[in-house]
Amino acid sequence: MNLMTRYRDAYWTARAINGTGQTIKVLGIALAVALALAGWAAAGKLGAAVGFAALVLGAVVGMPIYALGVIVAAQGQILKATLDTAVNSSPLLSKEEIRGIMSLDASNTSGAAFDSDSVTCSKCGSLVRAQSAVIHSNRWYCVEHAPPSGA
Ligand SMILES: [Zn+2]
Repeated sequence: MNLMTRYRDAYWTARAINGTGQTIKVLGIALAVALALAGWAAAGKLGAAVGFAALVLGAVVGMPIYALGVIVAAQGQILKATLDTAVNSSPLLSKEEIRGIMSLDASNTSGAAFDSDSVTCSKCGSLVRAQSAVIHSNRWYCVEHAPPSGA
């Protein structure tokens, strides 16, 4: 497993945790609203006290769930912040790779960010990072196949 894959998986995990937190928050609100609505509906038959009790129950049940969602989402955000710092300061990654990982984080799929930074050697056809490739007469070459400068 290379560094890029590892960071991509880690970012995916951070997003998944954050998403789970958001879902839990919505569930907490939905539960509170559902209980309040049920109480409001029941209040007509069973009296205002029941309606009020349902409202309180909704808040008591919904709020901790919402709070749990906030905590879970925060974990995902902390992980993402940690990853951003790690990626940015890694001596093992090139600037292109850092940019690639960062854009992966935002757009989340494909390898488009990497492809746009890569060129094909006109001689051997291998994919070369634009940073280390050589351009000559409007053609790209890898370092090995680059024509001697001035030629
Ligand atoms: Zn080549």
